[in-house]
Amino acid sequence: MATTTRRLEGKVALITGAASGIGECAAKLFAEHGAKIVIADIQDQLGQAVCEAIGSSNSIYIHCDVTNEEDVRKAVDIAIATYGKLDIMFCNAGIIDPNKDHIIDNEKSDFERVLSVNVTGVFLSMKHAARVMVPTRAGSIISTASVVSNIGGLCPHAYTCSKHAVAGLTKNLAVELGQFGIRVNCLSPYAIDTPQATGFTGLKGEDFKNKVNSVANLKGVTLTTDDVAKAAVFLASDEAKYISGHNLFIDGGFSIVNPSFNMFQYPENP
Ligand code: NAD
Repeated sequence: MATTTRRLEGKVALITGAASGIGECAAKLFAEHGAKIVIADIQDQLGQAVCEAIGSSNSIYIHCDVTNEEDVRKAVDIAIATYGKLDIMFCNAGIIDPNKDHIIDNEKSDFERVLSVNVTGVFLSMKHAARVMVPTRAGSIISTASVVSNIGGLCPHAYTCSKHAVAGLTKNLAVELGQFGIRVNCLSPYAIDTPQATGFTGLKGEDFKNKVNSVANLKGVTLTTDDVAKAAVFLASDEAKYISGHNLFIDGGFSIVNPSFNMFQYPENP
């Protein structure tokens, strides 16, 4: 890759949930763009494998359960000790609750587990990023929310609730940290073929693709982890220097359409 296209040259990024899916893809793309990467996850073997794929001179793996404050504190401190600074915190780790139709079948323990990873985990990652970014008066904090950060009926209650909370945390922290020159944004993707989504839907490969594309707004393309990783590179880079408090939807317009009344349906193009 030519130097001019290395958009994160010299930056240091910590990515939670980087052993798999969107986080893994982002770790590899951030490294291609010149960043040093701290891969933080609880799946140690997969995390080590991502680190090896990137190269040990540009990345390290650390076991970090984002619900555990000491783990998050340590991961941030290791980023500083190893690479001297933290420019980018990508709060990406997330889980989804079991697929149950009715709230009366939802378990309190599942609800609390999802909020613990998806909300408390993001809060702790933001908190410890802010701890080291505020003194330097710079930084970019990005979180993975979801298309369900703004709409209902697509995912279970805990997950939907948690992603609305990520969008809220993003706004609140963007206001607090603006005075220190730190930008805070989140990404809201539509459905992507990753272990989380295939585990939840029970659909894999072509079946998953056909299902999500059949109800997508934008036709002729399939959303991939790479599309989200590219949006994260943009928000992490200096090209996004004036973008803060933003929830960037990567959904091909899915969340702005009410399919029950779409006056633009062409009968010959269902
Ligand atoms: P994934 O399961 O491939 O990756 C999630 C990663 O988070 C895994 O490596 C997992 O080990 C890690 N993780 C889970 N709990 C953790 C914890 N307590 N501490 C540290 N790491 C933990 O799934 P993905 O689809 O790549 O998910 C990444 C993010 O994207 C999640 O926040 C998810 O909610 C969000 N998202 C996914 C989709 C989709 O359709 N795949 C859509 C919108 C948003």
